[in-house]
Amino acid sequence: MDRREILRWLREEDPGRLEALWKAADQARRENVGDEVHLRGLVEFSNHCARSCGYCGLRAGNPKISRYRMTREEIIGCARQAARFGYGTVVLQSGEDPQIEAQWMAEVIRAIKSETPLAVTLSLGERSAQEFEQWRRAGADRYLLRFETSNRSLYERIHPPLNGRPTDRIALLGILRSMGYEIGSGMMAGIPGQTYEDLAEDILTIQRLDLDMIGLGPYIAHPQTPLGSLTALHQAPPEEQAPAIEEITYKLIALARLAVKTANIPSTTALATLNRSEGRELGLARGANVVMPNLTPPQYRVHYEIYPAKACIYETAEECNTCLKRRIHALGRKIGAGRGDSQRRILSAAAGRG
Ligand code: SAH
Repeated sequence: MDRREILRWLREEDPGRLEALWKAADQARRENVGDEVHLRGLVEFSNHCARSCGYCGLRAGNPKISRYRMTREEIIGCARQAARFGYGTVVLQSGEDPQIEAQWMAEVIRAIKSETPLAVTLSLGERSAQEFEQWRRAGADRYLLRFETSNRSLYERIHPPLNGRPTDRIALLGILRSMGYEIGSGMMAGIPGQTYEDLAEDILTIQRLDLDMIGLGPYIAHPQTPLGSLTALHQAPPEEQAPAIEEITYKLIALARLAVKTANIPSTTALATLNRSEGRELGLARGANVVMPNLTPPQYRVHYEIYPAKACIYETAEECNTCLKRRIHALGRKIGAGRGDSQRRILSAAAGRG
């Protein structure tokens, strides 16, 4: 796919013509990753954050949020629950929390790997190569780190450096891959100041990185952030500004599927937040093959407010489990068995053996 074609789809408004995009993405999904929907249990284990991202409610400068950090036993308990529910993966996510020591994290990973058959995915933000290596050795399988936007000047504005250190998430993804992690990345759609051209470049970036996992969702304004409280100030000219709406998210999921046919792509909670009744289903019907049921204990979950009014926030892990499985079956799809490793990984492992 070239830039012109991507841009044409991003600007397409005719529902009849868009049907062709949805069909092509759904077919590519079926042919390359099949009808299984893989479940990744999400544990949001700390909402402490040292960074000051302009978009995120966990940012250091937000005094209105009550901070928590789960204990080792609590995290391992959630992983056991993931295994009991039959999930293949547990995703450990947090703010960028310097008090999470590398050694402590390695022990948590080791305990989960020795007690359960789960794949472990980490999403702790930007850490040192040494720490990534330590966690990989402890058994971590995958790492999620969104590039958020491929527009460098917009990125620097919304994701300021920490202690003057510039951040290069694309370079970190390269390091993670060289260590043997499956890598996941992606962007938000409709960030104030983000244009249609920027989103086209994001899809090309996804294609270039040949990602194992692609996570993307709509930007949702959080009033306790600079970007959320002053949205209008940051907007690009109206004909250029990418809208933070459902439709563009479906287009991006579909284009991401066509860009990296074998990738694992979740239908995200942010999408379900914009359309609670069928956002997740439409994502799954337009290219996605993964959902991430939330396992975070309810007393913590309400405080992991990266954006407000998140879907499923008052549910228990059991309720999320039942609800998501029902939705997947209603679509005529199957629950994924096993870890749901990336096709890219499976193929390269097979080539290595042969
Ligand atoms: N600290 C980790 C995890 C962040 S939360 C990290 O920085 O990688 C996971 C994702 O939530 C982020 O990568 C971002 O894309 C998304 N996110 C954060 N704030 C958001 C908002 N206001 N609207 C939509 N998505 C948001």
